[in-house]
Amino acid sequence: MKDKTKLIHGYHAFDEETGASSIPIYQCSTFKQASIKDSQPYTYSRFSNPTRTALEEAVAALENGKYATAFASGMSAISAVLLSFNQGDHIVMCKSIYGGTFQLVNEVMKRFGIEVTFVDETDLTAWEQAIQPNTRGLYLETPSNPLLSVTNIAGVVAIAKAHHLVTMIDNTFMTPQFQKPLALGIDVVIHSATKFINGHSDVVAGLVITNDEKWEQQIKLQQKVLGGILGIEDCWLTMRGLKTMALRMEQSARSAEKISQMLEKHPAVRSIHYPGLPSHPGYQVHQQQATSGGAVLSFELANQSAVYSFAEALKIPIAAVSLGGVESILSYPVTMSHACVPKAEREKQGVTDGLLRLSVGIEDTEDLLADLEQALTKIQ
Ligand SMILES: *Cc1c(COP(=O)(O)O)cnc(C)c1O
Repeated sequence: MKDKTKLIHGYHAFDEETGASSIPIYQCSTFKQASIKDSQPYTYSRFSNPTRTALEEAVAALENGKYATAFASGMSAISAVLLSFNQGDHIVMCKSIYGGTFQLVNEVMKRFGIEVTFVDETDLTAWEQAIQPNTRGLYLETPSNPLLSVTNIAGVVAIAKAHHLVTMIDNTFMTPQFQKPLALGIDVVIHSATKFINGHSDVVAGLVITNDEKWEQQIKLQQKVLGGILGIEDCWLTMRGLKTMALRMEQSARSAEKISQMLEKHPAVRSIHYPGLPSHPGYQVHQQQATSGGAVLSFELANQSAVYSFAEALKIPIAAVSLGGVESILSYPVTMSHACVPKAEREKQGVTDGLLRLSVGIEDTEDLLADLEQALTKIQ
């Protein structure tokens, strides 16, 4: 079954009991037991719930994984994975990492004695050299935020296998539609389903997918005892969003490619970061591991005043944090995701005063291009 069919039929998408064309919202905390003597599949909604099970099955099917677990947010999913390590363990991570993950590592995991080394994600030698006797895992995120740098997934997996380490990936930017890390040998895949999977900017959710039974038991335990479950109604909304993900991703990625080509040639644009452009330094590697450049790009204007006049003139994209919605979203890392990073440090990372990130929505491609072009002409 191909992905577009799988999204509609590749799991229990219909209610067996009544034939309902969507799995109902099983709005209950507890389940009446058939008998007090025997156990039954569903007992309490923190442990499991039929609506959540349906979403978990759907995402597992799409990632070609055996097991998926749904969490209250992407950060809750990431916490469940990273808090599976023990005191004294060491993890190697890419330096361009989601801000929340960075805070989790520095402000929480450190207290539990779990140590992390950050490396230049594009340099495989750096990954290997960071490995210590107590290293247990390698954690990556590709393409990265907000500069879309690309990590060679198969390369990192090969290093991990040689050293018997677990590999974890945050696959949020590519979605299971465009990048299937389990097939490349990754052990644990994480998503912020808040973004493209739900896709409508109306739910915060997270997912973990694996083929490894031991990891699945660990992740399920974390879901149960840390208690960060995804609420029933949000499970239903996410499943509803997921059904149209393939169509949304196609439209958004097609526009993102056209927009990045336009921006690359525009005199007001200093640089453009989009892994679907042949000029991107990670293009070749990205082509090997993903089927599209995706729907997120970033680009640099001359300075902050250029950013302000451009953003003022723009009519279609909303100015906001987050990404992956049906609406195009323009983010300014300097005042949003990187607001708490000192200026010198963020400039070292390439997050300059002129940098903007665009998450391309499903609006008409021509309208988006025209809007961006007219706003670029307004730059003083
Ligand atoms: C948004 C995001 C997260 C965090 O997800 P939440 O659902 O906001 O908790 C993690 N990783 C990436 C790449 C993200 O974009």
